[in-house]
Amino acid sequence: MKNFDLIVVGGGPGGIFAAITAAEKGFKVALLEKNKRIGNKILVAGSGKCNLTHTGKPKDFLDKYGDSGKFLKEALNKFSPDKLKEFFADNGLPLVLIEESGKFFPATFSSVDVVNLLKETLIRLNVQIVESFKIEEILKMGDEFHIVSDKEEYRAKNVLLATGGKSYPGVGTTGDGYVFAKSLGHKIVPPQPALAPIYVKEYAFEELSGISFQDVKITFWKENRKLIEKIGSVLLTHTNFSGPGILDNSRYVQSETSLEINYIGLEYEVFNKDIIESINEDGKKTIKKYLLKYSLPERFVKKILKISEIQEDIKLSELSKIKREELAKMLTSNKMEISKVGNFEMAMVTKGGVSLEEVNSKTMESKKVKGLYFAGEILDIDGDTGGYNIQGACSMGVLAAKSMTK
Ligand SMILES: Cc1cc2nc3c(=O)[nH]c(=O)nc-3n(C[C@H](O)[C@H](O)[C@H](O)COP(=O)(O)OP(=O)(O)OC[C@H]3O[C@@H](n4cnc5c(N)ncnc54)[C@H](O)[C@@H]3O)c2cc1C
Repeated sequence: MKNFDLIVVGGGPGGIFAAITAAEKGFKVALLEKNKRIGNKILVAGSGKCNLTHTGKPKDFLDKYGDSGKFLKEALNKFSPDKLKEFFADNGLPLVLIEESGKFFPATFSSVDVVNLLKETLIRLNVQIVESFKIEEILKMGDEFHIVSDKEEYRAKNVLLATGGKSYPGVGTTGDGYVFAKSLGHKIVPPQPALAPIYVKEYAFEELSGISFQDVKITFWKENRKLIEKIGSVLLTHTNFSGPGILDNSRYVQSETSLEINYIGLEYEVFNKDIIESINEDGKKTIKKYLLKYSLPERFVKKILKISEIQEDIKLSELSKIKREELAKMLTSNKMEISKVGNFEMAMVTKGGVSLEEVNSKTMESKKVKGLYFAGEILDIDGDTGGYNIQGACSMGVLAAKSMTK
């Protein structure tokens, strides 16, 4: 049996930053990780380059977590994006900003360097890192937690659950934390894949894989009710719609939701007016040439014309009213029935998890079990792409550690 002030379960960013912060405050800390090494998800983050945070102040971050952003206010204030950058710079791995996207990466663009630095820091602070540790159960007896495994038992007055969500199970996040939290009396909001591609019925763009549209209008409908309207980038793949605008908003998809995309950046009436004017002024121009003036990719224009059963060399003056309106609808408000959202294997994060109602956002402590803390994706909170998830997890971990060591 081993005794600690804090046992952190899960070696992702949330758990690691909690362990570092608590150890700095003099706590005796153990970090338990079921994989052979900590930080497996950090290794895959940002395609191995690790997008750690985003430009902006804490207040700019709040609306990047769907409806749950305000839960993170205290955490982001206690450990802001600037503090995260400072941590890495002070430890010899400064972060660099990619201006176009607002994303921050380590200067070496290497997730391996991030994990190595974090591991070295944990070791320097005497955090006991226990890898390949398989927890059987977590019990609360008196004012102490007992972490039971098939080999050893660990005990501590404080436990922080940071086991992540259910997405990308290959890196170790298989929803174990939900079982532990539930056994300790917590409510779990049903987990769903988020930051995932969206599949539609009769997807028409198989051969256009790789084409993307910047800052287009994306609308989600439930029957005739508008659920949400956003501006974002869309990527066409072999089988589905992806890209930041789709991934970030996949959290809003419910049953019987439709996806509408405006590829051209003009409202239906504006486009319709423009094409009518062009018919009057330059009726000899082919429809294909006319559409290319909108900087649409040629392969896309050809496909749209094919779907609309319009010959690409037809002159504008030969375009019937019905076909013109069909085309305008297709380009400005292409509404498609969603068949599914990408599954947990492909989703980058998990929506749902430990209910926020039962966790104190000022301390990250459970409102039900004294000494039990949470950080990161295990909670019912998920961020947009761009570094918001790692920043959120780190901020929650730091806040939890600061609260318990006060
Ligand atoms: C492909 C991909 C790319 C991504 N890229 C980015 C990016 O560039 N920027 C960004 O901000 N976010 C990115 N994310 C999301 C981000 O990585 C996660 O949201 C973040 O890592 C969550 O941190 P966490 O602390 O909650 O735990 P996680 O990083 O999910 O780690 C949880 C840890 O707990 C361990 N664990 C699970 N169960 C147990 C158990 N029973 N006992 C012990 N340990 C356990 C797991 O093995 C894992 O190591 C990406 C996600 C994916 C899948």
